[in-house]
Amino acid sequence: MSDAETVFERIINGEIPAQVVYQDERTFAFRDVNPQAEVHVLVVPRVRYRNLAELAEADGGLLADVVKACRRVAEIEGIAESGYRVVFNTDGDAGQTVFHVHAHVLGGEPLGSFGRS
Ligand code: 5GP
Repeated sequence: MSDAETVFERIINGEIPAQVVYQDERTFAFRDVNPQAEVHVLVVPRVRYRNLAELAEADGGLLADVVKACRRVAEIEGIAESGYRVVFNTDGDAGQTVFHVHAHVLGGEPLGSFGRS
């Protein structure tokens, strides 16, 4: 894990405003500022790991909590039944820009194919 704080810690700490959708002791979920679908919520662990692999390696229980929080977000947003996509971008080719692991929860409309664009 790098020492550099990211924008997400500032959001979790309330230093940067965000539309919070869900939070619990270990996770925090808020709307993406640049939504790519009708519903686009980011779910982050309060503790920072750089990416999905580092989180899984360090704390599998916390990874499970993040996934459960995604499900809670889907329920809150009313898309648990219609379907949703969970994406963890990792590093350059995937376009990761914030190096505090986060799940994108996308839905609320039929989603396009993914991969090469
Ligand atoms: P990544 O590309 O790293 O997978 O996703 C980072 C996401 O964070 C992007 O979708 C971007 O729109 C979102 N984001 C970046 N800065 C902010 C911010 O200050 N507030 C919110 N709500 N989202 C942000």
